[in-house]
Amino acid sequence: MIQLIERAKGFTEQEALVSNGTSYTYGQLLESAHYVAAHLLSGKPNLEEARITFLVHPSFEYTAVQWGIWMAGGIAVPLCVLHPLPSIQYVLEDTKAEMVIAHTDYIDFLSPLEKRIGVSIASLKSILQNRSTQLPNIDPEQRAMILYTSGTTSKPKGVVTTHANIQAQITTLVSAWEWQQHDYILNILPLHHVHGIINVMSCALWSGACCEFLPKFEAESVWNIIKSGRLTLFMAVPTIYYKLIAFWDSASEMAQEEMSKAASKLRLMVSGSAALPVPVLEKWRKITGQTLLERYGMTEIGMGLSNSYRGERRPGHVGLPLPGVEMRLVDGGNKAVKENEAGEFQIKGPSVFKEYWQKPEATKKAFTEDGWFITGDIGMLNNGYYKILGRDNVDIIKSGGYKISALEIEDVLRKYKGVDDCAVVGLPDEEWGEVVSACLIARDQAIDTKKISEWLKEQLPGYKIPRNYIIRKTLPRNVLGKVTKNELKKMF
Ligand code: ATP
Ligand code: MG
Repeated sequence: MIQLIERAKGFTEQEALVSNGTSYTYGQLLESAHYVAAHLLSGKPNLEEARITFLVHPSFEYTAVQWGIWMAGGIAVPLCVLHPLPSIQYVLEDTKAEMVIAHTDYIDFLSPLEKRIGVSIASLKSILQNRSTQLPNIDPEQRAMILYTSGTTSKPKGVVTTHANIQAQITTLVSAWEWQQHDYILNILPLHHVHGIINVMSCALWSGACCEFLPKFEAESVWNIIKSGRLTLFMAVPTIYYKLIAFWDSASEMAQEEMSKAASKLRLMVSGSAALPVPVLEKWRKITGQTLLERYGMTEIGMGLSNSYRGERRPGHVGLPLPGVEMRLVDGGNKAVKENEAGEFQIKGPSVFKEYWQKPEATKKAFTEDGWFITGDIGMLNNGYYKILGRDNVDIIKSGGYKISALEIEDVLRKYKGVDDCAVVGLPDEEWGEVVSACLIARDQAIDTKKISEWLKEQLPGYKIPRNYIIRKTLPRNVLGKVTKNELKKMF
């Protein structure tokens, strides 16, 4: 976003990124971005919001391309390096992109699309040898980026944000989590979702801090970087913390002690993108002394709710609205619900996106008449802090007149010895509408589900007890580690 680039001019000598073991300053980043902009403009005064897609793994080059597109006035559309060709083709066609900038590693992979859909592929290597040019002025209300949602509930939607939206998404976090110039963060997340792009990389660059990229997540490499003592912050999705814990568990006592001591020194560790299971929070606290800060957000809004940086971080809760974010919980008629009553989150504020890309109907449906964005997530206010109950229609199971939160049942099930993880869904049923059904992840594939149901009856009312169980070794998840429940339903 253009204000991010303006600010970087104040930090030119500072270390901005560490990528493949090489350190780059803000000055170098600005220079390379300028090359990209020059290439894109070549002869034109402005890109006039052209969609420029790019397939580059998290690295210095990734950021240079993103910033170069912004400098030239284009809309940046990052592609996922883990996606198969059809998913990439979907985004290229949906955005009607003229060009995809590709890292050398992906040119062959993309080449079938040149003929198939007539997109031109520009090699990043040749772009970075271009010379500089006059840059256009950019209006903060101009479209800056299209990020595709995770596709957890249906086909990914292109979420359009302006430069001003992105600035608001960044500055609210910089202020709430007290980002400083001396901060140093490790990025292990994909850079085509807000968690990686906004919360990790852009907050660091806004603050004049440093972001290091790890090309591929491996628990051991992350632990080694933690042990080096250079990190002040770390952010990840729950499944990553789960893997870091598993690695810690398998290490020798001496190694464990070293890892724990190093991790205890970070000033902040954050979890988000999916509900953080309370046992993971507790175990992480036990081994590192760190209470993970859980927050809630969406592609459409950036971050909305956060536990407190200095105050309480309550397990199983996502805290309060971030600065500048207005939040309300309402019933089906858009009337505010009372404390401890379930309602749907609606959000207003400068960080809320502009539109779904070329989906005017979907955009219109996503807002109330008085301009609140309808998130589709259900939650409640519980003793002053918000709790997420899940997504309407997916995690909220409608059975025999009851509305049941799948997340609540999952929380209880995870406490059962032998259940390593689980996911609960509602399966269609003539009599009940839907019936509660659970997929268990258990080492013992013959785990006794009758006993589980009996045990559950001591914890939960009868209508919340699963009627069907399946036992599997893993859950279906997308690249952010979110359980894809529509796929899971087909497994029953
Ligand atoms: P799609 O919109 O394509 O179905 P998606 O909603 O998963 O995919 P994202 O925008 O990446 O796409 O994810 C936002 C959603 O993630 C939120 O609407 C919410 O359901 C979930 N989420 C984010 N943070 C949390 C959290 N801390 N606890 C529970 N759920 C969370
Ligand atoms: Mg969504």
